[in-house]
Amino acid sequence: MTAPATGEVVGSVPMLDAAAVRVLVERARAAQPAWAALSPRARGRLLLRLRDHLALRAEEVADLSCRETGKLPAEALLSDVLTTCDLARWYARRAPAVLRRRRIPAGWLVNKRCYEVREPYGVVGVIGPWNFPVLNTMRAALAALAAGNAVVLKPSEAAPLSALLMEELAQEAGWPPDLLLVATGDGSTGAALIEAGVDKLSFTGSVATGRAVARMAAERLIPVTLELGGKDPMLVLAGADLDRAARAAVAGAFWNAGQICTSVERVYVEESAYHKFLERVLREVAGLVVGPASDPASDVGALTTEAQLERLDRHIADAVSRGARLLAGGHRLPGPGRFFAPTVLADVDHSMDVMREETFGPLLPVMRVRDAEQALRLANDCAFGLGSSIFGPTGQAMGLVSKLRAGMTCVNDALINAGVPGLPFGGTGESGYGRVYGDEGLREMSRTRAVLVSRIGWKFELPSYPLRRWGRTRALALVELLHGPGLLSRLRGLRRLVSRAPAGTSGVE
Ligand code: NDP
Repeated sequence: MTAPATGEVVGSVPMLDAAAVRVLVERARAAQPAWAALSPRARGRLLLRLRDHLALRAEEVADLSCRETGKLPAEALLSDVLTTCDLARWYARRAPAVLRRRRIPAGWLVNKRCYEVREPYGVVGVIGPWNFPVLNTMRAALAALAAGNAVVLKPSEAAPLSALLMEELAQEAGWPPDLLLVATGDGSTGAALIEAGVDKLSFTGSVATGRAVARMAAERLIPVTLELGGKDPMLVLAGADLDRAARAAVAGAFWNAGQICTSVERVYVEESAYHKFLERVLREVAGLVVGPASDPASDVGALTTEAQLERLDRHIADAVSRGARLLAGGHRLPGPGRFFAPTVLADVDHSMDVMREETFGPLLPVMRVRDAEQALRLANDCAFGLGSSIFGPTGQAMGLVSKLRAGMTCVNDALINAGVPGLPFGGTGESGYGRVYGDEGLREMSRTRAVLVSRIGWKFELPSYPLRRWGRTRALALVELLHGPGLLSRLRGLRRLVSRAPAGTSGVE
């Protein structure tokens, strides 16, 4: 593996085949029952210890993430380290409450006690992408572990070293062995993990691979969480604070060199604000410095893979050929390293690939719209539904939130919801289903067991024989007692139920 920003060799890892992956899953399976037997509080203490070690070795973790992906230290420290620490704390603190046994009313079965109990799945397979090699794998892995599962993690072949460092930190934090195991390799290793008999799968990556993974999981009836791509829209309404909106659009589009699933990938601006917004965006972009992690002045880092550069070239060429105006950037920068100038396109429309396909690079297309209604219609004219943002007067913006097709919406902000560990993270449509983060992330990694306890044995237990004891009349009387419209009807039901008369003539008597 070579560093995207410098071309230097970063390291190498073994490529595990199906047999080696099966061994990892078996080891995780053997370790899991003892882990599940600990209370959520005890497991939480170990999660917090991992958090301590992550914080202690923050710089080392961030440096490795930078070398593997080409990102910048602030991006790695704030996302891979800080947010992962936040999530470890959230899951550790919330697990006892979220996973606790809940009493469920038994309704008319008054002699029963009912409970909903949350149990771990067993071994959870986590397959992750390269863009935040710690956060975007550990956000699911930590939730799974907090819920009492063991995890086998398959990181991207483009950034596997960060995952191996997490495995090392878990050991350093005194975790029992084999609870968090890393299977390095390529796509075939990921496929082997699904085939190795994991009990639940959490996948983060592209739509194409997500579909393939979902098909494999369906064959084996494994529940799967899919965190897939996005094409996040930003709506800028006429009454928006344009300075703030422009700053958020630029940071939202260029943070991590645009390689975030919730990057701002398209902006719709109301006509009257369009030029003023573009002016502000261009002013912001003019001040951006592109460079490697070793340069403290860098604002925008390298692109992790060659495929990203190719997609940028294609999207820009297509948009310009259809009438878009290139206002900034639009070209690769001299190496070594895969750098691309932060790019702004204006006068785009939905005939262009750049408004419909995920770019995953430093590109901000801006479209002029007539009004909020048109902005909303265009924002929803997309197969993805991950994040979104609206800038404008709060009341007006809040009125639009539920009309946007998205799993997440920021009002007068963008991207930063991913920094709040308690807010569920996930999408709809081609952005996938299921959630990481928050209480929902913990529930996602556990399944419910329904438990019913009979307290007092009654003579007329249900179900029991002979059935004629109930017959049609008495069963109808029970329906009437419980659901009859009005008091009189209920009283009639009660009288019929307790009457000592034969249970009915039309039932099974
Ligand atoms: P990919 O879909 O290419 O890869 C994701 C993971 O799946 C990698 O570990 C990959 O391994 C593995 N994989 C590849 N083929 C298979 C297979 N047949 N069976 C099982 N696993 C397989 O995505 P990227 O790594 O390129 O990540 C970028 C994408 O991820 C973007 O679309 C982005 O939007 C999305 N993403 C979504 C997020 C979300 O929360 N919704 C967050 C971050 C990214 P290998 O890399 O070794 O080939």
